[in-house]
Amino acid sequence: MQHVDTIIKARWILTVNPQDQILTDHALLIQAGKISGFVPHQAVGQTVNAKEIIDLGETHALLPGFVNAHTHGAMNLLRGLADDLSLLDWLQNYIWPTEAQVVSPEFVRDGLLHACAEMLRGGTTCFNDNYFFVGEAAQVVAEVGMRAVLSEAFFVFPVPWSQHYEEGIQRSLDTYQTLKNHALINIALAPHAPYSTDEQLLRRIKTLSEQHQMLIHMHMHEGRSEVPDYQAKFGARPLAHYDALGLLSNQWLNVHMCDCSLEDMELLKKYQMSVIHCPESNMKLASGYCPADALIKAGINVALGTDGAASNNDLDMIGEMRSACFLAKAHTGNPIAISANDALRMATINGAKALKLDTRIGSLEVGKDADISAIDLSSIETEPLYHPIPQIVYAGSRKDISHVWVKGKILLRDKQLTSINLAEVKQKIRHWHNKILQLAANKQ
Ligand SMILES: [Zn+2]
Repeated sequence: MQHVDTIIKARWILTVNPQDQILTDHALLIQAGKISGFVPHQAVGQTVNAKEIIDLGETHALLPGFVNAHTHGAMNLLRGLADDLSLLDWLQNYIWPTEAQVVSPEFVRDGLLHACAEMLRGGTTCFNDNYFFVGEAAQVVAEVGMRAVLSEAFFVFPVPWSQHYEEGIQRSLDTYQTLKNHALINIALAPHAPYSTDEQLLRRIKTLSEQHQMLIHMHMHEGRSEVPDYQAKFGARPLAHYDALGLLSNQWLNVHMCDCSLEDMELLKKYQMSVIHCPESNMKLASGYCPADALIKAGINVALGTDGAASNNDLDMIGEMRSACFLAKAHTGNPIAISANDALRMATINGAKALKLDTRIGSLEVGKDADISAIDLSSIETEPLYHPIPQIVYAGSRKDISHVWVKGKILLRDKQLTSINLAEVKQKIRHWHNKILQLAANKQ
């Protein structure tokens, strides 16, 4: 008899392995935080046993935990503050002035905890975050037990919490040193965007990225005016300019790419850079269209991100998968563009590849860390069930996520968070909500 730590029995196991294999009536075995095997249901108790056996019955599917490849978690506290605006109007007239008054280590701690609760409840186990006070962010994530790549946004102009971007770089390097061997947290570098950085800042980032093998997480070609404005100033598109300056590398993550020429695609291929597609944020801010389908067909790795809750307005990866499919079909006029299966890969293994974590997470395969979510497909909204993956993408809801494990540790059990006190989170949200309302009232 083989003994393991945990056995999870489910109707379907959506492995997202290279063959996109779906196992039916199998159990997944976890030993020391890793997936150690798959056995048919009847083997449980016969040839394999565990300290804990979780039998999810006949209606659940197990899938890799979602990888939200671009978000700003603490912006959860600004959800719904300003809607139905263009990117620059939204940023310059609403988000940045509010952030200037409220962003602090406490704001980051409380906002990110709020985001972690939302993400875990929706089946996300790993996220790539870009905000401020990265050390505080890392503390929160470590306490919650999620997996994350964390970074601090750098601007060429002073912001209230950094008179110079070197302050943010120092915080990032300090956190990187402290967490160098952390099992779940990596630190990246995040120059904000082409219109808010300059060559000197990007050269500094390139050097640090090479020295420490750190990812570079940057908004690229987002709003409609970004590329034309940049061309008018520098005579080249941002990506082409960075190529000419020798700034690009395979550590570079291009978030958005709503304006993506054939020349841009060649550069993405040349440097093996990933694109992070944020369909809902791009649609809401009318930023443009990232040609995710064409990029995937060209062999470029495309992952999926929600962006921050202030521009989306949720951190729902199931919703994001559905939007990625619908947007691609509507834009190209091709119903085959971005299938449900493509979307699931974008939300899991492609995100893991972008973050250079694909040897550890992104699929349910023996030897990988047990980062898993379980979804209950028994509700009337998901019946009858012919094919589990399209059912989750096109008819599923994050509210049906029942269980979540990160590195074998259960963080959501029967829809209850195990490492976050939801009542406390709600109290913190109320505090910031009142404070922001008060600031707005004082201004009038
Ligand atoms: Zn963003």
